[in-house]
Amino acid sequence: MKSVLVTGGAGYIGSHACKALLAAGYLPVTFDNLTTGWRDAVKFGPFEQGDLRDRGRLDQVFAAHQPVAVMHFAALSQVGESMSDPGKYWNNNVSGSICLLEAAVAAGCMEFVFSSTCATYGDQDNVVLDENSAQYPINAYGASKRAIEDMLHDFGAAFGLNHVIFRYFNVAGADQDAEIGEFHQPETHLIPLMLDAIDGKRAALTIFGTDYPTPDGTCIRDYVHVCDLVDAHVLGLKWLEQGRGNRIFNLGTGSGFSVREVIEQSRAVTNREVPFVEGPRRAGDCTKLVSGSTRAEQELGWAPTRSTLDKMIADAWRWHQTGHYSD
Ligand code: UDP
Repeated sequence: MKSVLVTGGAGYIGSHACKALLAAGYLPVTFDNLTTGWRDAVKFGPFEQGDLRDRGRLDQVFAAHQPVAVMHFAALSQVGESMSDPGKYWNNNVSGSICLLEAAVAAGCMEFVFSSTCATYGDQDNVVLDENSAQYPINAYGASKRAIEDMLHDFGAAFGLNHVIFRYFNVAGADQDAEIGEFHQPETHLIPLMLDAIDGKRAALTIFGTDYPTPDGTCIRDYVHVCDLVDAHVLGLKWLEQGRGNRIFNLGTGSGFSVREVIEQSRAVTNREVPFVEGPRRAGDCTKLVSGSTRAEQELGWAPTRSTLDKMIADAWRWHQTGHYSD
């Protein structure tokens, strides 16, 4: 069985990627420092604890498992925190990625799938966001991801490192079997916070800003089901194995939903009221982020069949009621 090194494999998206990789016939080797990930989420292959900035540890893991590819999810990913503590983001995300890229090249592991973000596009009014759009990130999280994209380009030119970059829109939902799901400590994301508020695990949801230039005044996002998202990663890995070259793909559905629309859909799916209050804007938030590309469908053959808002909320709700991690 071919091994794939999955950095951040103990996190939300990385753990779903491990499940999808195993189902596709690869052995996912999780590399994670467990600062935001969960040991309990590593269920589909070996676990190697370590920090990306520890080159010696990375070299050991590459030598032990001889992975054919890297899927790089490990990152700090909270927009708000990236604005209040930018150094933490540049250090963890960028320094860690430099070390990882150098270790991969040294080990001769030349296929690389990278988890980037629509936050690299920034706040661009009336612009269709496709892979050729200019990137003007407005928060340190997005800026750190764009820097890693640039790094991949340079490592490709210098060493022939092949890469697929996925720019995610907003990831939601959970594994169909509720074996794994979204669980952050602290939680900052809209849908899990809303589900917590619905069943009284925390106080009312605060809507961050009601004066945006959108029809109902709240931010608009393009939500994609985590299982659809990780399917694209397996297709991206096959793309690289087939020698199809470096490529960037947006992963979104092209449909945008406002915060108020997500609240309304959550009420409909759970049949429960969503307690919420209206608050000020959160620093670093873009007004609207919606993918304007079908490249992943056309070129990779990606079929995001589960990414309807009701399905994503229903799957997240099922996980929310049954699953959590304790270590
Ligand atoms: N949001 C909100 N209240 C919250 C958390 C998020 O109103 O408690 C909004 C946030 O301003 C953004 C959207 O929900 O417009 C999605 O935010 P999230 O943090 O889930 O993802 P992001 O878009 O930052 O990656």
